[in-house]
Amino acid sequence: MSKGTINVQTENIFPIIKKFLYSDHEIFLRELVSNAVDATQKLKFFSSTGDFKGELGDLKIEVILDPENKTLTIKDKGIGMTSEEIDKYINQIAFSGAEEFVQKYKGKEGADQIIGHFGLGFYSSFMVAEKVQIKTLSFKEGSQAVQWESNGDPTYEISDIEKNDRGTEIVLHISEDSKEFLEKGRIQGILDKYCKFLPVEIQFGTSTTWVEDPSGEKDENGNPKRVEKEVENIVNNPNPAWSKSPSDLKQEDYDAFYRELYPMSFDQPLFHIHLNVDYPFNLTGILYFPRLKEHVEVQKNKIQLYSNQVFITDSVEEIVPEFLTLLHGVIDSPDIPLNVSRSYLQSDSNVKKISSYITKKVADKLNEMYKNDPKDFETKWDDLKIFVEYGMLSDDKFYDKAEKFALLKNTKGEYANLSDYIEKIKPLQTDKDEKTIILYTPNAEEHHHFVEKAQERGYDVAILDSPLSPHWISKLESKLEKVSFARVDSDSIEKIIDKGEEIPSKLSKEEEDELKPVFESNVNKEKFMVQFESLSETDAPILVTQSEFMRRMQEQQRLGGNAGMFGAFPETYNLTINSNHPLIGLIKDTKTEKKRNKLAKQAIDLALLSQGMLKGKDLTEFVSRSIELIK
Ligand code: ADP
Ligand code: MG
Repeated sequence: MSKGTINVQTENIFPIIKKFLYSDHEIFLRELVSNAVDATQKLKFFSSTGDFKGELGDLKIEVILDPENKTLTIKDKGIGMTSEEIDKYINQIAFSGAEEFVQKYKGKEGADQIIGHFGLGFYSSFMVAEKVQIKTLSFKEGSQAVQWESNGDPTYEISDIEKNDRGTEIVLHISEDSKEFLEKGRIQGILDKYCKFLPVEIQFGTSTTWVEDPSGEKDENGNPKRVEKEVENIVNNPNPAWSKSPSDLKQEDYDAFYRELYPMSFDQPLFHIHLNVDYPFNLTGILYFPRLKEHVEVQKNKIQLYSNQVFITDSVEEIVPEFLTLLHGVIDSPDIPLNVSRSYLQSDSNVKKISSYITKKVADKLNEMYKNDPKDFETKWDDLKIFVEYGMLSDDKFYDKAEKFALLKNTKGEYANLSDYIEKIKPLQTDKDEKTIILYTPNAEEHHHFVEKAQERGYDVAILDSPLSPHWISKLESKLEKVSFARVDSDSIEKIIDKGEEIPSKLSKEEEDELKPVFESNVNKEKFMVQFESLSETDAPILVTQSEFMRRMQEQQRLGGNAGMFGAFPETYNLTINSNHPLIGLIKDTKTEKKRNKLAKQAIDLALLSQGMLKGKDLTEFVSRSIELIK
């Protein structure tokens, strides 16, 4: 036996490790199990190169809980270590890594977040154990099995032991204040979280299942009797879908993997993208498009980040652009530096490359889907549009690609991509200033009257009804030349798309001035601006509209934009009187003041009614007045 002091500069680092890494103690298990996986993978590698000529045998890793003796053991059949290797890898190198970490992050805020990204490695076991033993036998021929033992003094003891099977056992003597790690459920939970897709089978105890009675006995109905059977509890799937080649996978496999990833989720994803790069960085993964509809739900199925199948985190905001965090699935890359802080991560050039790679992949996939089967893509559009809008708003590279597959749907249910749509409407919907106007409505039902008037002129009305639409419209207007958007109820259609063709007015200036107070006295003057316009006779007698500008200002205010800057924006509307409509002529010619007022009020109410703005008492009065007028 020999004794020694672990190579440290800091007096006693262990209390610091314990204190600091408080909230993330559980990662010790991830570290030890992934070390066991590494050791196993190395052995497989040596076997393939001929450096190891023995039998590989069953390479399963075992996690063994012994609450009575207060130990937790991680046992592998990997390469093991000689006493020289223990000295090199455990006494010297491993510790300096841990020490560096503690030095660097001592007292820094968020240190416990960083630890999740940091391979503190073997020494993280001292967060939960008062004593740690390594019992190991190297795969090298003629090796002597050794035991290393330390209670984190930081002294250690090394001795030769009897051990006949190749590999390493790490025995943790769990300390009093970490008793939770002697509970089966707790350990199972950690394994589920971090080890679910590790590439080597991991067994944790046994579980019971029901199997057919091996004796062939039948029950009263003649069916084979079923009996309980203890089976190994394997916690992981060593070959998750993303580690396979896309050509080996069918749609069912992707669906099944989605359920494996999110067992609590009942949704079916829309489609997926299989990522696979090996240059200039390594990255694999599967991203799923959820069905978003109009709700951007609080993200329950987050993208999970793995490094060589070891779970790292499910907060990937630093690695993928924000709009892509709406997606579900996994990304696995050993090239994402995990031993750095989060703010550093964003400026890392590899991470930037990964992020733009993923963005490009997603855009290419959408483009390809649209090109290959536009009809099918259209059926998915309602679920996709929020995502695409969000992407176009937040990422210019994505925007450029998305112009080809961002669709506009019109009130007739027809779809076209942005560039085709603009080409299609250009001949008719371009005004005297050569601006092409995209007419839109968030709700064709509510704007039925306006939509119909637009359609009478052969114009097209697009439906823009997502919560992001207002932002998206502004973005498009800033990007597209000579194109602007106007909500279909923002003015009379002649004014929205002004062709410069004046219709002569049937009312003189004097007549208008005389009539104006008649209408004004019948509305709230603060809210409604009365104005005359010479529209066609077939247009409505009165239109209630809200200018595009006013409405946008109000929307901004609601979204908390420019609110304070101009003070509160009152809700105001234009009451446009069609000077050419026969009804307006009739009102003008009505001599009795009472009757004139009644007619004016009725005409205003009709306009409000067609806009869904006539409610409560006003509506009741309108109904009785109508009955009276019919009589
Ligand atoms: P890292 O895994 O990042 O190298 P660790 O602190 O986790 O750092 O481990 C230090 C070293 O100890 C490993 O690189 C490896 O050489 C050795 N080691 C740890 N666990 C095992 C094991 N189960 N079998 C063989 N070697 C191991
Ligand atoms: Mg390690």
